[in-house]
Amino acid sequence: MSALEQNIEKLSGFLARFKETGIRNRIGGEDRDGAGGTFETISPVDKSVTCDVARGNETDVDAAAKAASDAFPAWRDMPATERRRILLNVADAIEARAEEIALCECWDTGQTLRFMSKAALRGAENFRFFADQATSARDGKHLPSPTLMNVSTRKPIGPVGVITPWNTPFMLSTWKIAPALAAGCTVVHKPAEDSPLSARLLVEIAEDAGLPPGVLNTVNGYGHDAGKRLTEHPAIKAIAFVGESRTGSIITKQGADTLKRMHLELGGKNPVIVFDDADLDRALDAVIFMIFSINGERCTSSSRLLIQDTIKEEFEAKLVERVNNIKVGHPLDPATEIGPLVTEEHYNKVTSYFDKATEDGATIAAGGVKLGDEGYFIRPTVFTNATNQMRIAREEIFGPVLTSIPFSTEEEALEIANDTDYGLTGYVWTNDLTRALRVSDKVEAGMVWVNSENVRHLPTPFGGVKASGIGRDGGDWSFEFYMEQKHIGFATGQHKIMRLGA
Ligand code: NAD
Repeated sequence: MSALEQNIEKLSGFLARFKETGIRNRIGGEDRDGAGGTFETISPVDKSVTCDVARGNETDVDAAAKAASDAFPAWRDMPATERRRILLNVADAIEARAEEIALCECWDTGQTLRFMSKAALRGAENFRFFADQATSARDGKHLPSPTLMNVSTRKPIGPVGVITPWNTPFMLSTWKIAPALAAGCTVVHKPAEDSPLSARLLVEIAEDAGLPPGVLNTVNGYGHDAGKRLTEHPAIKAIAFVGESRTGSIITKQGADTLKRMHLELGGKNPVIVFDDADLDRALDAVIFMIFSINGERCTSSSRLLIQDTIKEEFEAKLVERVNNIKVGHPLDPATEIGPLVTEEHYNKVTSYFDKATEDGATIAAGGVKLGDEGYFIRPTVFTNATNQMRIAREEIFGPVLTSIPFSTEEEALEIANDTDYGLTGYVWTNDLTRALRVSDKVEAGMVWVNSENVRHLPTPFGGVKASGIGRDGGDWSFEFYMEQKHIGFATGQHKIMRLGA
C-alpha cells in the first residue's frame, strides 16, 4: 500500500464517527444539536460531503455564553499551578492525537499533510508555551509614590469569544484559545463554517485532558448568525478574531453596543523586496516558500514580489522553472506540495484573477490554469509584467498566486511596498546591512523579516497595521488582551486629604 493509500485508510477510520453522528456543538461539556438545524461540510479534495454539522444560532450562543459564564469563577480562581498542569496535559493530548488532527484538517481544508502535520504539533506548542506562563500572568508592578504603595495586578477579563477562519484552523485556534485559558478566561469558540473538524477535536481533546466542562465551548455555524450573536453577547467581554479585513470592520460595529474589546488579525498583501545584492538562491527559496506553502492560503504570504530590475529576468526565469515543478495533488500524499483550494467559492475567487491579470495587462508566466474538476485544484501561478496598480497587486487573492513587480531604486521599492491598504508582514532580501536597517524600519507592517522567511517565535509580537489588524499576539501581548490591568494604592502614612464641607 502506498503512503497515500495508508493515509486515506487511516482518515476513513477517523471520519467514521463524524459520518455517523455529525459534528454537534459542545456546550458546558455536553454535545448539543444546533438550534438552527444542520449544514453539510464538503471536502475540497473530491467535493464529497464529509458530514453534517450543527448550525448554531442565537439560542446556542446564548447557552454557550451562559456555560462559559458559569464556569468562569472556578476557572479564574483555580490556582495557576493547577491551570498550568491541565493545559500541559492538553498539549500532551494534542500531540498524542496529532496524526488524527492533521489528517482531518487536510481533508477538511485541502491543506497538505507536509504542512498540517507540523501545524498540529504547533497547536500543542501553543498550549505548552502559554501554560508555562499561567503562573506569572497575574503579576503586576510595584509603583511606589511618596504617599502610596501602588501596585498593579492583572485579572482575566471574563468569558471571551474566539472566531477563527478556515486556513490552518487548528493552529490558529490554539494560538488564541491557549493564552485565553492560561489567563483564566473561559471561551466560546466559533470556528469557520468551512473547517469544523479540528475545532471539534480540540474541545474533545481538551476535556479528555482534564479541562472542566464549560471552560471551552464550541458553537458551529455561520458568521452572520452564530458569529454575529457572539460579538453582540453582553456576557462575552472580548472577541479575538482572525479573518478578512471586511469582516473585522463588520464585527467591530456589531460589538460596539456592548463596548466589546476586539483583537483583529486580518488580511495582507505582503511585499517581499529582493535587492540585487541579496543571496539570490536563498531569496528564491524563501519567495517560493512564502507564497506557495499552505496553498498560499496564509495571511503572511508574500504575495507581491518586488524585484530589482537588474536581476528581474534571471530571477523570474528561475522562479517560473521552480514553480512549474511544484507538485499539486492529493493533500494526504506526503509528496504533495499544494492541495486543493478550500471551497468552490474560494476557487472561483482565486481563478477569477487569471482573467483579471490579463485584462489589466499582466503576463501569466506560470500556471493560470484549473486542474480537472474532481476537486478545487489549480496550478501555482506567477504573474509578471505587473504594476502595483493592477487588481492582482492590490487585492488579497489568498491562494498560490504570486504577482511580480519590478523596481529600480530603494526609494521606489519602499514606495511600492507601502502603497497598499494592508500592513501585516514585509520581507527584505539584501546583504547591505545599513540598507536592511533602513528598509525594515520603513516598511509599513507589523512584522518584517530580513533575509528570512516568516519564522514564528511565540514570545515575539504578532499582528498587523493598517487594514491588517489591531492588537498583538504572542508572549505577554496575548495576556494584555485577555486580562484587565488593575491598580491598587495603599496609603503609607496619613497624607493630607483635602477636606470639603469641613
Ligand atoms: P472570514 O472573515 O470570511 O471569516 C472568518 C470567521 O469570521 C469565520 O468563522 C466566519 O464565520 C466569521 N464571520 C463572518 N462574518 C461574521 C460576522 N458578521 N460576525 C461574526 N463572525 C463572522 O475569513 P476567512 O475567509 O474564513 O479567512 C481568510 C481571511 O483570514 C483572509 O483575509 C486572511 O488574510 C485572514 N487571516 C488573517 C490572519 C492574521 O493573522 N492576520 C491569519 C489567518 C487568516
